[in-house]
Amino acid sequence: MPNKTIALVAHDHKKPDLIAWAKKNKMHLESLDLVATGTTGGLLTKEVGLHVRCFKSGPLGGDQQIGALIAEQALDVLVFFWDPMNPAPHDPDVKALLRLCSVWNVPVACNLATADMIISSPLFHDPDFKPELPRY
Ligand code: PGA
Repeated sequence: MPNKTIALVAHDHKKPDLIAWAKKNKMHLESLDLVATGTTGGLLTKEVGLHVRCFKSGPLGGDQQIGALIAEQALDVLVFFWDPMNPAPHDPDVKALLRLCSVWNVPVACNLATADMIISSPLFHDPDFKPELPRY
């Protein structure tokens, strides 16, 4: 059973929360296939010491690259700490990424509490668990 693939993305004001969460959960995260948008991934590598496959920065298309993984059923979980207090230049991409999680039934954590619940869920650690794939 291959490792689960998890994408990590945080807007600038939320990056400290994601870095702290990743430090707290480093032991779990180390055993996963990690992908991230460019700046987030760079920080996870430098500050947490995780091995991360970095896509482009979010505003330069990184969100869409993660969306492509979802469309190909190649992503198991998205942790996306988007900023509810500040507009992003790539807001349409943010919306599109969240939409694809709903389209393909991908678990998505938009805040710390949900990320904690997902990573501590027995289902997350069950190699046989696969969320139901919607049929359109
Ligand atoms: P970043 O992108 O990790 O390159 O900052 C995040 C985003 O804005 O989606």
